[in-house]
Amino acid sequence: MSEAKVRLYVDHPLGAAQSVVLSRDQAHYLFGVMRLGVGAAVLLFNSHDGEWRATVTEAGKRGGVLQCDVQTAQLQMPPDLWLIFAPIKKARTDFIVEKATEMGARRIVPVQTAFTNAGRIQQSRLQAHAVEAAEQCGGTFVPEVTDLARLDRVLADLGDRQLMFCDEALAGASAASALPGISGPWAILIGPEGGFSEAERARLHARETAHPVQLGPRILRADTAAVAALTVWQQQLGDWA
Ligand code: SAM
Repeated sequence: MSEAKVRLYVDHPLGAAQSVVLSRDQAHYLFGVMRLGVGAAVLLFNSHDGEWRATVTEAGKRGGVLQCDVQTAQLQMPPDLWLIFAPIKKARTDFIVEKATEMGARRIVPVQTAFTNAGRIQQSRLQAHAVEAAEQCGGTFVPEVTDLARLDRVLADLGDRQLMFCDEALAGASAASALPGISGPWAILIGPEGGFSEAERARLHARETAHPVQLGPRILRADTAAVAALTVWQQQLGDWA
């Protein structure tokens, strides 16, 4: 058996002897870019069935077929953590999606706040970044990237999910609010370059399940704040703990 050098996310069931038909883009990537041919091994995952080693049985320019041989990893779900963030410039938004996937967010939720710069996002492009990040980092799960939604709608969808509210107004405060050790579903909220409006901040502070958190004495860029918050949460309550 040859060694698998490529990991690929497929939207297809995986199991013993299961055939997987490739899309045109996947065939182009495997056979055109990676130069694989019939007999080559590929690792497949689909967010449900773990990771499977598969063999290329048909290889064409516009398509191809793989057959699953053996399961190589069980599905490992990330903790029930959503990253809610206000999109910033394109490359920095891509960075946030990539890092949130690597660091183990289960859902990535772009949110429109009063001072959010972006009026729309390309959801499919961001979702593709999450797929690529999961392929690279050895994950067996790809977080869903939702479409841009207004803050009030996102807060309504949270239900009683705990919220780590990263509030830049607390930066430099002498008594930083601690993250309480509550288990179960959580979300992290990161604001835009312009920060939260006073009305948003008041609303968030009034929320029973919101926990205002300070990320050190300096104001961080939103992409830095996202990585810092994910690190703190994963370390204290997540699968790094
Ligand atoms: N324009 C805002 C200001 O000057 O006050 C800064 C916004 S900051 C670039 C973007 C987001 O990162 C904030 O809304 C907050 O969610 C998070 N953030 C940055 N630094 C933080 C800190 N020290 N503590 C908590 N959250 C922080």
